[in-house]
Amino acid sequence: MAKKVTKIGVLTSGGDSPGMNAAVRAVVRTGIYHGLEVYGIMRGYSGMIENDIFKMESRSVANIIQRGGTVLKCARSKSFFEPEGRKTAYENLKSHGIDGLVVIGGDGSFRGALKFSNEYDIPCIGIPGTIDKDIAGSDFTIGFDTAVNTAVEAIDKIRDTADAHDRLFIVEVMGRDAGYIALHSGIATGAENILIPETKTDIEELINSLTEKEKRRKLVNLVVVAEGDEFGGANEIAKIIKERLPNADTRVAILGHIQRGGSPTCLDRLIASRMGYHAVESLMEGRHNVMVGIVNNKLAYTPLNLAVKAKQKISKEWMKIVKILAS
Ligand code: ADP
Repeated sequence: MAKKVTKIGVLTSGGDSPGMNAAVRAVVRTGIYHGLEVYGIMRGYSGMIENDIFKMESRSVANIIQRGGTVLKCARSKSFFEPEGRKTAYENLKSHGIDGLVVIGGDGSFRGALKFSNEYDIPCIGIPGTIDKDIAGSDFTIGFDTAVNTAVEAIDKIRDTADAHDRLFIVEVMGRDAGYIALHSGIATGAENILIPETKTDIEELINSLTEKEKRRKLVNLVVVAEGDEFGGANEIAKIIKERLPNADTRVAILGHIQRGGSPTCLDRLIASRMGYHAVESLMEGRHNVMVGIVNNKLAYTPLNLAVKAKQKISKEWMKIVKILAS
């Protein structure tokens, strides 16, 4: 029989993503609804180690559901990789009487939570909060929808100016290890080519397709590249294209951090609210060391050790669709 939780901590960790605030709000309000005490931990695992922990009330999360970023701040903590750091973090949690933890973050944050909960008797529940959508065990991650819509809006604008000047634009979007933002935003904006880390980039094929389009006088060309593509980001790709196709008027646009910010979309607010609610419910049911996800519109629990291992796969069909629709 699992111990009943009475005081829970919540933190946001790793890279921030729009919608994290909605998840924090849901955790705090669901916890209070059930009579739990809820503690906010600032700057992820750093705040756990530095004892930057404070009691939250229902009103602490008023007026944040629509705000990007995270009121609890995000950080990366080197000390949490060390046993000594995790020991201090545990002692700090204990000093507040915290007996359950909700970690909102990406796979790195879950790796930390897994290590911590294997060493200490504090059950951890993960909520996938990452713009990259690269975590197995959930069809959605908080922040992806907002990030990809920001990218679409920006690329649409680039397309207008590309069209006016018959230019070839290489647009770089975020995604060091995952190509979801590139794939979805590229398809949604009618990009001619999409280069992502999950598939081998064939430069010859890219050059051939651009040359062939040039011959057909299809002059507006958009190439969307994820920053983690094996050839490098937009600058590296543009360099190759300029050498091989010197007549093309080639420009680069790097969207950068605008993709992380902004007011979360309705979808991100909804999934954050749903996951935050279920994270608290599952702690109360005695679950531990699982990630709360949504699969086929149903709640799904994935053990943290599996969530950190597997990645979401990119369907080959999508890549075929890109080729056919851009012809
Ligand atoms: P994300 O959660 O966005 O993937 P990171 O990979 O930067 O972000 O991880 C966030 C934090 O989680 C790290 O700064 C570190 O404190 C903690 N962490 C990540 N991996 C481990 C690990 N193997 N052991 C202990 N802590 C870890």
